[in-house]
Amino acid sequence: MYENEDSGPVRFDLLVVGSANADLVVGVDRRPAPGETVLGSDLAVHPGGKGANQAVAAARLGARTALLARVGDDAHGRLLLESQRSAGVDTTGVLVGGAPTGVALITVDPSGDNSIVVSPGANARLTPEDIRAAGPLLSASRVVSVQLEIPLDTVAETARALPSGTRLVLNPSPPAPLPAGVLAACDPLVVNEHEARSILGRDAGTTPESWAQALTALGPRSVVITLGAGGALAADTRTGDFVRVPSPAVDAVDTTGAGDAFTAALAWRLGLGEELPEAAAFAVRVGAAAVTKEGAQASFPTAEEVSAL
Ligand code: ADP
Repeated sequence: MYENEDSGPVRFDLLVVGSANADLVVGVDRRPAPGETVLGSDLAVHPGGKGANQAVAAARLGARTALLARVGDDAHGRLLLESQRSAGVDTTGVLVGGAPTGVALITVDPSGDNSIVVSPGANARLTPEDIRAAGPLLSASRVVSVQLEIPLDTVAETARALPSGTRLVLNPSPPAPLPAGVLAACDPLVVNEHEARSILGRDAGTTPESWAQALTALGPRSVVITLGAGGALAADTRTGDFVRVPSPAVDAVDTTGAGDAFTAALAWRLGLGEELPEAAAFAVRVGAAAVTKEGAQASFPTAEEVSAL
């Protein structure tokens, strides 16, 4: 067992600090216009939320994983806890109560286009104080992965509270302006094309290479841009690595959760000591495997499935 520089033994390869939602999905012939009511299919309820997704993705690959999140004291909260535990995620950091579990209300039409309303619920009640109280969990983790489906103050506190020797991976989704202190702590900042453009605005430039250059200029020590079937671009300011990592060609069935699977895999492998290009090469294979199956958590591969790709 290895140790963090300023703390006790490392018990987790990855701690995910983030959201947990119940995805409530109804298929419809046509999404309703304002004021209209339409009839849909039977309701399907799936565990989701970027934090919960990343934790399941990492655990399924074999990472020792913990989740720090907040759910409601309700049936959706129990569903989320159960899906985490059955994937092998440590849930001692999942706080219960304060508001209903977050939900995403999703209608999907036959062409696959959807309309989504998110009620953040308990996710919005994960506070900076909750992060401070979880100090031992942070200290026991090699890498901490965060997204933006929890309050920005809580994300900022996570960056501040990080023990030296613990690495921060941030996927700024949904995109929001980030404080300089958070950007400087990212190693790496992981974005898809939409998030890169949203952060950079008019300064975006036209190529992933120009986005990576502009994003590293904002302060993160490294940047990874995911490019769908195009794989990823990894830029590390310390090593000078600036590489395109191609994705294996697969039959894409459903890309839901692919970015979460990619980021979880990347964070885990960085924690094991791999360099950024090597970790990104593994992560694109995990993302590619995830798009070959329907659903988010249901599509995340095991290490054997990644090797077989
Ligand atoms: P997001 O899911 O956040 O929109 P991307 O679409 O960039 O992010 O996908 C994340 C990763 O998932 C990619 O880097 C790649 O590894 C994998 N991926 C996504 N779409 C495909 C695809 N059509 N074929 C192969 N891999 C894919």
